[in-house]
Amino acid sequence: MKDLSKILNHIGEDRESYFNAVAPPIFQTSNFSFNSVHELRSSLDKEYEIPFYTRGNNPTVAILRKKLAALEGTEDALVFASGCAAIAAAVMSVVKNGDHVVCVKKPYSWTHKLFQNYLTDYGVETTMVDGTNVENFRLAIKGNTTLIYLETPNSITFELQDLKAIGKLAKKHQITTVCDNSYSTPLYQRPAELGIDLVVHSASKYIGGHSDLVAGVLCGSKQHINRIFGSEFMTIGGIVSPNEAWLMIRGLRTLPIRLERSAATAKKIIDYLENHPKVERVLFPYSKNHPQHALAKQQMEGCGGLFSIVLKAKDITGVEKFCDALQLFLLACSWGGHESLIFPTCALYNSTNYKNSELPWSLVRMYVGLEDPNELIIDLEQALAII
Ligand SMILES: *Cc1c(COP(=O)(O)O)cnc(C)c1O
Repeated sequence: MKDLSKILNHIGEDRESYFNAVAPPIFQTSNFSFNSVHELRSSLDKEYEIPFYTRGNNPTVAILRKKLAALEGTEDALVFASGCAAIAAAVMSVVKNGDHVVCVKKPYSWTHKLFQNYLTDYGVETTMVDGTNVENFRLAIKGNTTLIYLETPNSITFELQDLKAIGKLAKKHQITTVCDNSYSTPLYQRPAELGIDLVVHSASKYIGGHSDLVAGVLCGSKQHINRIFGSEFMTIGGIVSPNEAWLMIRGLRTLPIRLERSAATAKKIIDYLENHPKVERVLFPYSKNHPQHALAKQQMEGCGGLFSIVLKAKDITGVEKFCDALQLFLLACSWGGHESLIFPTCALYNSTNYKNSELPWSLVRMYVGLEDPNELIIDLEQALAII
């Protein structure tokens, strides 16, 4: 990626204004004062540009926003208290009562709920489509469609959507597009460069990268972001704290090496699993067996450490035994941190909150972190032997 080191180490930072400190200060302040009524008055209309009150602008957060926008190749970015807050703000900035949304099937669980349980109360109707064929989007578009919502690949079964083709289709119909890019990070995929209007992230994953924060990102054009700033951002107020923003800046410094390491380990582990008799299938966009492998190679510059496997287990007990036997993989949701994780879909069964009968009980989502790949393989070997 062009200028990556410059973005991560220099863009947004104004070291002379804080004693040439290499790491920026955390501006842990709610508000900013002015020297005269005249200055206060003229600042009121510039909340988008200058620090006035931290719900709007904060200098630590401002550094982070510049870096994220530069990484994603957009004019501006906003940072939120969670990925879900960023997604909700992006969606709500587009739809209003009477509108129709076309959303890819199997998006992140709480994104699904936003469309299917929440926005319905506000008169917004959503059609969920299989995103592997652009034609499905074309057929679902209605006269009142204002938003196409994408997540490529999704984070459990890893189907892709053709960003360029869908971006083009949406432009033709004057429909706004939003894409959740959490899986790839801007290092491995830049939807805005492929014609997508708004890009959202759960920064709780790779961007934060240390399993110690929850945050979200929304990137887009200056015009779009300015409008969201003056509306969803300031009125709903789901902002990131300066402290969390600082942790994200620190996380970004090592994003390239963390991602590279996680991806390289995933490749080794996938090679091992694809040849293991107890594994039926590996779901991973960069696997040669992935039905959309060519598209993955075309629109992604890399593939991280998150994938799923389908186990050859006789029953759920077999899956449970495998998961319980792993020593180095923690049983947990989320991903993108330093530690390897597993999440079996059979854990979702009987949950009223997460019921998803479309997922097979033998599927286990895996994330590989920064550990020694050989140690992880030894751990997998002993756990697979138990099935
Ligand atoms: C985790 C996740 C989210 C939600 O992000 P939070 O930071 O947990 O609110 C959204 N999309 C994807 C793909 C995710 O993995």
